[in-house]
Amino acid sequence: MDNDNGLLLVLSGPSGVGKGTVCTALRQRITDVVYSVSATTRPPRAGEVEGVNYFFKTKQEFKRMIEQDELLEWAEYVGNYYGTPRRFVEETLASGRDVILEIEVQGAMQVKQKFPQGIFLFLAPPDLQELQNRIVGRGTETEESVRKRMDAARAEIELMNQYDYVVVNDEIEQACQRIEAIITAEHLRKERQIHKFRQWMKED
Ligand code: 5GP
Repeated sequence: MDNDNGLLLVLSGPSGVGKGTVCTALRQRITDVVYSVSATTRPPRAGEVEGVNYFFKTKQEFKRMIEQDELLEWAEYVGNYYGTPRRFVEETLASGRDVILEIEVQGAMQVKQKFPQGIFLFLAPPDLQELQNRIVGRGTETEESVRKRMDAARAEIELMNQYDYVVVNDEIEQACQRIEAIITAEHLRKERQIHKFRQWMKED
């Protein structure tokens, strides 16, 4: 990947940890980061808007997207499919803008294989009880779904070691500041800057 491309930031972690809330808060703080909208077969929750929260698809439509290689990654999660539309991500990165994917861990691991130069952030809950409180508190999940999501969360936390950064989401504002600091530092990596200086030397 070219050094002038945007950064691919992958924000992952257990369901209920607050990835969506953190992403929404980040969007307000950092306006030059683009949020990728996923496709899903999950039915919309109250207040969710097509094309803003998700592209809502039937199973058949989703399978067609997989077959036509339209997804950068996809995963089945608690009985539904979720995936990242590839073309939008590639074009946005090529235009020099940073992209954030807010995805669960199986998908994040697929992205890591395809885009090892991505930056992988694991959003962690302060503790498991707090995570359960958040999932139950959302009021949108059945008892069965809460149990499945908690089982998934335990398995997901095991994968923390595969990530570049761990951000504990104890307080939203602080979590955002930590992520902002990571983005700033990643932009300052010498690999992303040295070519500009080399170019200046040649022109001198
Ligand atoms: P929810 O149903 O709560 O909106 O999302 C369930 C899980 O799917 C969350 O962990 C969310 O981050 C994840 N998710 C959302 N979009 C995608 C996607 O495009 N790909 C993958 N792999 N996971 C996603």
